Amino acid sequence: MLRLAQAPNIAIATLWIDTLREAGIDASMQRYFLGAAAGHLPPDQCLPEIWLMHEEQKARAQTLLADLRDLPQRSWLCACGEKVEGGFEECWSCSRPMPAI
Ligand SMILES: [Zn+2]
Repeated sequence: MLRLAQAPNIAIATLWIDTLREAGIDASMQRYFLGAAAGHLPPDQCLPEIWLMHEEQKARAQTLLADLRDLPQRSWLCACGEKVEGGFEECWSCSRPMPAI
């Protein structure tokens, strides 16, 4: 097990893990269950963390997370030549899906 990142909240941690798993990376969330007992812990002790099962997947996972953090500014170039901006996962022009990262 390897700690990859700390997420600002559980919703984002869940999104990150879903994305990593879709990419074939075995990730899990740790610590979020402490939320119920958070009253006595400093805030940074209660944040969800993303852990990887396989250390060799770390570089790829970091790349995926970096892309997720940049989501609002994300754009990609479709095979039809259109530049798709605004976080859309499908080309507005030809409906091709966003290419895999
Ligand atoms: Zn297109």
